Amino acid sequence: MYPTHCPNCGSINEDFSIVKHGFLTSRLKWLSSSHQPTFIQLKKQRFFCRDCQTTFVAASPEVDAGCFIANRVKQSIPIELQDNLSMKDLARRHGVSPTTTTRILVQRGKEHAPDFQHLPENLCFDEFKSVKHVTNKMSFIFCDAATRKIIDILPNRLQKTLRDYFSIYSLKARVAFMKKLFGTDYEKMKDYRKLKSYWRSMLKSATHLNYQDYSYQRLFKKPMPETEIVDYLLSLDPTLKAIY
Ligand SMILES: [Zn+2]
Repeated sequence: MYPTHCPNCGSINEDFSIVKHGFLTSRLKWLSSSHQPTFIQLKKQRFFCRDCQTTFVAASPEVDAGCFIANRVKQSIPIELQDNLSMKDLARRHGVSPTTTTRILVQRGKEHAPDFQHLPENLCFDEFKSVKHVTNKMSFIFCDAATRKIIDILPNRLQKTLRDYFSIYSLKARVAFMKKLFGTDYEKMKDYRKLKSYWRSMLKSATHLNYQDYSYQRLFKKPMPETEIVDYLLSLDPTLKAIY
């Protein structure tokens, strides 16, 4: 595919400002064939940017920029980890060092860790039979409906597991929001203290909130039921409200 802009200076490709400039051939670590170390020669198109007088190579879906291990090798390592293999065997099967194997696994783990700061507007979810050792037979998987990216996989689909898991989101979003408020100005510090005192009410189900008890609330300087307090806290931040 022809580049739309230069990755070095960012200028848009207009009137042939970016032209083809030979090829760059690199040796990539490929999936081992019959347990023998295997490599391929990948020929990448090189381009020249006339605006900044530099060259760059086309991106390939087979390998990350600046890396010599093919993506399919990186994908295969976590998959084969399911078999009872030592780190040394896993490394040998893929023709990479044990240190590289560990690095790839750590990186993959980080990529798949959810950030717990926000949830997409629409979720798709399903259950599936996963590995034998999970507590319940069915695992729970869910993804972002728009991007189709998997957000997380839970070991079972029990209501308690789901509730505990998803309440982390509101907790993390509240913590992030409180950090924003802290130490800014006098009015915002008031809201910070309110969130700090009443956050537990936000973790309750809406139907369990008390709407009859009008006891005096020191921070609000008036009598208020729990439902109104939660309404007030949610009005502070649209993200918090959306997640709630
Ligand atoms: Zn450029």
